[in-house]
Amino acid sequence: MTSNSGPATRLDAIIVGMGVGGMYQLIKLRELGMSVQGIEAGTDVGGTWYWNRYPGARFDSETHSYCYSFSPELLEEWDWKELFAPQTETYPYLQHVAEKFDVRRHVEFSTRIKRASWDETGNFWTVEAEDGRTWEATYLITAVGTLSIPVVPDYVDRDKFRGPNFHTSEWPRTPFDVTGKRVAVIGTGATGVQVIQEMAKLAGHLTVYQREGNWCKPLRNRPIPPEEMEQIKRDYPAIFERCRSTGAAFIHDTDPRAFADVSPEEREEFYESLYAQPGFALAMGNFSDLGTNEAAARAAGDFLARKIRARVNDPKVADILIPKNHLFGTKRPPMETGYYEVFNQENVDLVDLKATPIERLTEDGIVSGGQERPFDIIIFATGFDSILGAFNRIAFEGRDSISLIEKWRDGPTTNMGMAVHGFPNMLIVNGPHGLASFCNVPRCLEQNVEYVSDLLAYMQEKGFNRVEIAADAEKQWMDLMRRNAEPMLVAQTNSWFTGINTNIEGRTKRNLLFYVGGQVYFQEHSREIAANGYTGFNLSQADSS
Ligand code: NAP
Repeated sequence: MTSNSGPATRLDAIIVGMGVGGMYQLIKLRELGMSVQGIEAGTDVGGTWYWNRYPGARFDSETHSYCYSFSPELLEEWDWKELFAPQTETYPYLQHVAEKFDVRRHVEFSTRIKRASWDETGNFWTVEAEDGRTWEATYLITAVGTLSIPVVPDYVDRDKFRGPNFHTSEWPRTPFDVTGKRVAVIGTGATGVQVIQEMAKLAGHLTVYQREGNWCKPLRNRPIPPEEMEQIKRDYPAIFERCRSTGAAFIHDTDPRAFADVSPEEREEFYESLYAQPGFALAMGNFSDLGTNEAAARAAGDFLARKIRARVNDPKVADILIPKNHLFGTKRPPMETGYYEVFNQENVDLVDLKATPIERLTEDGIVSGGQERPFDIIIFATGFDSILGAFNRIAFEGRDSISLIEKWRDGPTTNMGMAVHGFPNMLIVNGPHGLASFCNVPRCLEQNVEYVSDLLAYMQEKGFNRVEIAADAEKQWMDLMRRNAEPMLVAQTNSWFTGINTNIEGRTKRNLLFYVGGQVYFQEHSREIAANGYTGFNLSQADSS
């Protein structure tokens, strides 16, 4: 660490963020013999799984496809208990990884970075924390997460409410009992759906405030018996191989048939079989043109609408729960376990915010559509300032004092989500337009981390210490992003995927923040770039002082 008063100790690398990606990056760079400092805002490792402790938080990807794959020993020694692990299992898993690979010794916790500036003459980054401490390193690696900045809407009199009220990712860390309480949950995305299911079991009365419904699909979670876990361990190589071969690194993959190839009767049977499978089967295993053919997306949504109507007793409530403003597959579908049945319970109400918007908060509750409802607790499941939020919190200054916020004002530009022209020696894990952003995250994070490590190992070997992506390589990637996005329904829909965070006022410019070209192409393309000596990555040896 460099204090403001003391002399600078130049590190090889600083990694900002110690979630799933940042931790693995730290482990990999230490294997290369580099001096590395991890910096983390939380008090421990874990990222998403450290912050999101709300009741019901769990994986929506099959556990055995979501864990780290890099260490056979780790795979062997960890027994997963549920097909979709809850946060109470995932966080201890990540703590175990930190322990096993001695991660924490290299991490400064409870530290938020506010500025990072590039020194072209000295060929290093200076990183400054909010409390004024600074560090210097040749390489800066950001692993700041895609959904790490919570957003609570700026309701009128938001501060007046006297009871506990918090965003889901800020769930109290001390024992917090909702039993018998009057609870409000605002928001029905993947997080809202998970927390609502749990609140409905405990609350005296639960009121769900929904602006728009979502296309939820049953998760179909279950315990993993010990003998099955042993089989999973034997199958790990095949499971990860399978994930490497599918479009988004899930064990589910697109059906080769197009929607029009199949008769309506067969389609119904097909949807039923996908609906009966665990996890993302309906979204990831659907017809090959689900993402581009409106008819295919509409038919899958109609199927789910029939399911919602069959499961919710009151047809008016069912109608409110059925999404109207987006097609199936154009937003991330929440996974549920008895979610729709919650609305048949005596102790649960649904408020349709499209008909009766929230006007203000009061000391005792929420006023919507002219009606005040009193609560003991308000839970904001209102989402995140996705992808860009975490970058915008840090003043990155690149070569010639270019500001990243300025450069990205009309939307981010990157090469493969990993490098930005004008920002030498800054490498991104899980950035906009990268592989990991639209993927079974840990699978693609591992690829991203290993790519960065391989690049730095190559540079070590060749005696290089400066890398900057060329302007035309960045442009080519952005052109590919635009071409990929054109036919995609997801790119035509407002959501956190397209940077239109409806929870943030004034965001109006749609900009697909994800790479949607399929991981198989991405892997081939990135491997080819590496095999050719990292085409487009300008590598050089700079004098460093
Ligand atoms: P989200 O999908 O952005 O949903 C936010 C919710 O809040 C939406 O229902 C939104 O309504 C509502 N909302 C926003 N602003 C509002 C306002 N001013 N008034 C009323 N309602 C408002 O956020 P999220 O549910 O936290 O999920 C984000 C992502 O996290 C997911 O898509 C998923 O990728 C990830 N996640 C993963 C898991 C998992 O793997 N198990 C679990 C949870 C989350 P509108 O729809 O009308 O905008």
